[in-house]
Amino acid sequence: MVSKSYLIVGSGLFGSIFASEAAKKGNQVKVIEKRDHVAGNVYTKEIDGIQVHQYGAHIFHTSNKEIWEYINQFAEFNRYTNSPVANYNGEIYNLPFNMNTFSKLWGVTTPAEAQEKIDEQKAVLNGKKPENLEEQAISLIGTDIYQKLIKGYTEKQWGQKATELPAFIIRRLPVRLTYDNNYFNDTYQGIPIGGYTQIIEKMLDNPLIEVETGIDFFDKKDEYLAKYDKIIFTGMIDQFFNYELGELQYRSLNFETEEMNIDNYQGNAVVNYTDAETPYTRVIEHKHFEFGKSDKNKTIVTREYPADWKRGDEPYYPVNNSKNNELYKKYKKLSQTVPNVLFGGRLGQYRYYDMHQVIQSALNSAHAEFGE
Ligand code: FAD
Ligand code: UDP
Repeated sequence: MVSKSYLIVGSGLFGSIFASEAAKKGNQVKVIEKRDHVAGNVYTKEIDGIQVHQYGAHIFHTSNKEIWEYINQFAEFNRYTNSPVANYNGEIYNLPFNMNTFSKLWGVTTPAEAQEKIDEQKAVLNGKKPENLEEQAISLIGTDIYQKLIKGYTEKQWGQKATELPAFIIRRLPVRLTYDNNYFNDTYQGIPIGGYTQIIEKMLDNPLIEVETGIDFFDKKDEYLAKYDKIIFTGMIDQFFNYELGELQYRSLNFETEEMNIDNYQGNAVVNYTDAETPYTRVIEHKHFEFGKSDKNKTIVTREYPADWKRGDEPYYPVNNSKNNELYKKYKKLSQTVPNVLFGGRLGQYRYYDMHQVIQSALNSAHAEFGE
């Protein structure tokens, strides 16, 4: 096989996996990253012996054995199971929506009683097929949970009315008639012991890969397009085309991190604030992702504040409603005019991907390019 030159824009999971596969096949790879570190949004940094998830809590989960084995090559994972709790004006509820939640809220003790309550409350929909997040939520778990645990959180998180948001967003969360607080239904779950950054560093550790951080692709776009055989672009697809068809919508976040000289601030890794007034959605206490390893006199917490996105801000989430998805399709069509550029990842493909889905997508793209 003839070796080619690849430019990878962005050192998150998509870019780093593609870089790793390209180099394994003997290609020359250059990775540029606009932040001052690699790893994209999975970046973790050790502070006082605690792995701090700098861009929000990242819990790995998948039901795909191959993906699980793939990621386990790069780190050992612990048995962390995500079981966030919701704080609604001081009332504490278990998540996701399960018998613990229903019993606390309604005093019910059996699945049949819980189902009866849900059926009674979802009757307000009169059998209508759910067309937005609000209707989807009520049809799954009724009006009480919607009001206390979903509406406030959702409208802060997305800066839009729940009636204007797509239904699929709430279907990310399981609803169970069992006493099981596991946030995910997947077969495999955990946190890499020692953090995520090591995973990306190992992926990029190949003499054929050169990595440069603090470099923005748009500073020399034309030069790069002329110089490399192929470009893997994992930034925003609309920005690549200078927003010529209009702006896609994104949601941003601000993180406020605080170090405290106490052992245990909130008793759980993730606490969601589900009322409308508290300006943040989640508080993460990082030490609880890895068990019993850190100093008893220290803890680090991060509050996650949702924010409107404007050019120049970090685009953490695509807003996959039908209007934006239609516009994305037009950009995807436009991308055929640059056949030597492959658009990948959460921003390049404008998809609300979780880590396992990005890994699958990057491996598929790499296999299509280089063979298995
Ligand atoms: P990114 O990690 O965003 O990487 C893209 C990289 O490209 C970035 O480093 C960026 O700086 C760089 N870049 C962009 N434009 C340019 C440019 N012009 N020039 C140079 N570099 C550029 N998934 C889970 O599975 N479990 C979770 O618990 C979970 N929690 C999450 C919590 C939050 C708050 C967020 C935002 C996401 C979460 N995810 C989670 C999703 C996960 O972060 C993504 O699926 C994954 O990291 C996406 O990888 P990526 O390579 O597509 O993008
Ligand atoms: N959600 C909610 N209340 C919660 C947690 C989640 O209403 O306590 C809704 C909210 O709309 C959120 C969506 O469920 O955007 C998906 O939640 P998830 O935890 O998957 O969000 P992510 O981790 O991707 O931000």
